[in-house]
Amino acid sequence: MLSFEKEFQEIGHCGGQYTVDVKTAADGRRSYQLGMRHSRPTPASFFAVYFLPQGIPVGMIQLGGIGQAWNPAPVPGSLSIFIASDTQSMFGHQCQRCGGYWRSRSSPVRWQMTCPYCGLRAESHAFLTEGQLKYAKACCELIEQALSSDKDGESVVDMDKVADAVGKDSEKPKFYYAEQSQQNKYTCPVCKELNDILGRYGYCSSCGTYNGVYELESDLKDIRDKIAKGNQYEDCARDAVAAFDSFARQIVKQLAKRIPMTPARQKEWTGKLFHNIKPCADALKTVFDIDAFKSFKQDDISFAVFMFHRRHIYEHNGGEVDEKYIKDSGDTSVRVKQVIRESSQTANRIVGLVSKMAQNISDGFHEIFPAEDMPIKLQQNSRKSKVATGV
Ligand SMILES: [Zn+2]
Ligand SMILES: [Zn+2]
Repeated sequence: MLSFEKEFQEIGHCGGQYTVDVKTAADGRRSYQLGMRHSRPTPASFFAVYFLPQGIPVGMIQLGGIGQAWNPAPVPGSLSIFIASDTQSMFGHQCQRCGGYWRSRSSPVRWQMTCPYCGLRAESHAFLTEGQLKYAKACCELIEQALSSDKDGESVVDMDKVADAVGKDSEKPKFYYAEQSQQNKYTCPVCKELNDILGRYGYCSSCGTYNGVYELESDLKDIRDKIAKGNQYEDCARDAVAAFDSFARQIVKQLAKRIPMTPARQKEWTGKLFHNIKPCADALKTVFDIDAFKSFKQDDISFAVFMFHRRHIYEHNGGEVDEKYIKDSGDTSVRVKQVIRESSQTANRIVGLVSKMAQNISDGFHEIFPAEDMPIKLQQNSRKSKVATGV
């Protein structure tokens, strides 16, 4: 769920020092070693990127364990630059296509990263922020200066000064940058990546799973709790349908944005409302081969259709049946002006059906835009080994 207390706060850089150590051998040959050290009490993590000396990122570095070689640079002469996290051990990212900004705990090296907002998938180094690029450029310049000077010894890009400058009005160091907390900080239920995104809905930037169905589940959980407490069942049924409507609208907006289609069709799907579920479900099946009613019994479909129409009378008519409801729903068990009431059983039933429909839509959506396999398998394996060792 959204928590509004800490959004859009500046989260400081974790600090540390990027070092270049130049040595001249007896035969006059000069060599250099790049390093990163961190001695502040705040959490810190790093990833490493190959840069062209001009400050252009060209590839991620797979930092192996001790004794393991790194993957070679895609371009000879590339420099290895360490990019550090903020003080919450999260990294900022920015999408080159939509401009969206977000934070996450990791920057994948063995699979591609996904923009939470537009779904663009590319290697992680394509999502560096302006601040990270500015810092990396400063590191590249430092290496060049250190090598072109005739003195040996260590040169430093001091990110501790950057960390110290957070929240202060004093002049900031040249390569100052900080990250910013967003609105929905959530752990992806599939791969366990921690994401922090603007708004509520988005793709997990590690595995690419869309979070819509999980956000809906959290709404449905609240509704189930209200039903259990005997709260207004009509409101609960209405809220379940409304929550599904928000979820489905987000999904079809993504379809309209990401699948090439005519402007007219794009407009139609972008503005689609899910108040009348049957024609919407039929259109989803016909146009995108997404079956909202997959493995539903006819009886459940009819019940869901009724309940979606009932939302209208709970929302606008104080629960009184009108002609429109009878005409649209085909519900012949009630008459005009009659007040409809729900029970805990009918309210729970629609919550269950909404949940199933959303799962079907989400599955169909990911058949079109599959998630990344590797982070999901890694997570499943780690869960299995935890079970096996009893951790
Ligand atoms: Zn994007
Ligand atoms: Zn994920």
